[in-house]
Amino acid sequence: MTDLVILGESMVEFSQRGPGLFQQSFAGDVHSVAVYFKRLASPGDRVRLMTAVGHDAASLGLVAALKQESIDTSLVFRHPTRQLGLYMVNTDSEGERGFSYWRSDSAAREVMPLFRESTHVAGDGGYLPCGIAPGPDLFFFSGISLAVLSPGTRPAFWELVEQLHSAGTRIVFDPNYRPKLWTSAKETRTEYARAFEYAHLALPGIEDLEVLYGVKDFRGACDFLQGFDIEELVIKDGPNGVCYRGPFERFVEPITPVERVVDTTAAGDSFNGSYLAYRSQGLSPRAAIARAAKVSALVIQHQGALMDSAVFNRALVK
Ligand code: ADP
Repeated sequence: MTDLVILGESMVEFSQRGPGLFQQSFAGDVHSVAVYFKRLASPGDRVRLMTAVGHDAASLGLVAALKQESIDTSLVFRHPTRQLGLYMVNTDSEGERGFSYWRSDSAAREVMPLFRESTHVAGDGGYLPCGIAPGPDLFFFSGISLAVLSPGTRPAFWELVEQLHSAGTRIVFDPNYRPKLWTSAKETRTEYARAFEYAHLALPGIEDLEVLYGVKDFRGACDFLQGFDIEELVIKDGPNGVCYRGPFERFVEPITPVERVVDTTAAGDSFNGSYLAYRSQGLSPRAAIARAAKVSALVIQHQGALMDSAVFNRALVK
């Protein structure tokens, strides 16, 4: 049985379906990783989303939506005054999509103080991560998870990562770079260096590494990341293949490009969730990458991050 904790932010999504008509759902990079992991993992595997929500109706709706996907909500904390972040996907007359975000005051930014309060051990001035003790097998976070944490709360986050790392939890990191969420690329590189130091498994996309570090291909990415002690590297590059570097093998797995891409939202996140699910079922890295690529290929042929679960299950069986 695999026990996975994923830290980050889920938001309310309003996606335009017609003039003045929006469909409401919930989304976020870690949200997609959790959903696809749970849909594909063995029934006994557990995934907990570690985040914060408010007391408003949308927050309650999110918790219900997570439960419907069998995602454990015991690490979803309630902020007394803040609410969920929100974003809107507008589609213009040419079919081009634009995104607007309202997330700068979201509850999820305060997940660390809420976690600390919930686990605080009075008297010794410190705290124990008893909320997630014993340490999970895997702890996943992304560059977005890091970026949205209120800056003053990052030390508590790194302290938790240190404790989990020492307790034997495998740390999994996807840089998922969103420049608008950071004050500078320098700040991002400082935080990412720490993340790469801790990571046992890193799942970067070439595009992110190119913007931040100037690497242009798999070789450049591997050379750059060699400076860190990362056990397993899974480097994504859209339809151009996936590069794997692990203790026992190194290869590039080719990808069959999708002919008609509908929406690339969650390409990388669905890949991450399914890769983790297939690996925890004992599949080899090569087999897990091949199957995760099939899942992502399916996801990008549908609108939105989360495919309807019945449609998803039927398509996977084919
Ligand atoms: P990220 O969102 O992390 O940058 P990528 O764009 O590299 O991720 O895509 C993640 C995965 O989605 C790829 O490794 C691949 O398996 C799949 N994928 C993305 N684009 C395509 C495509 N055009 N055709 C087939 N598969 C794709």
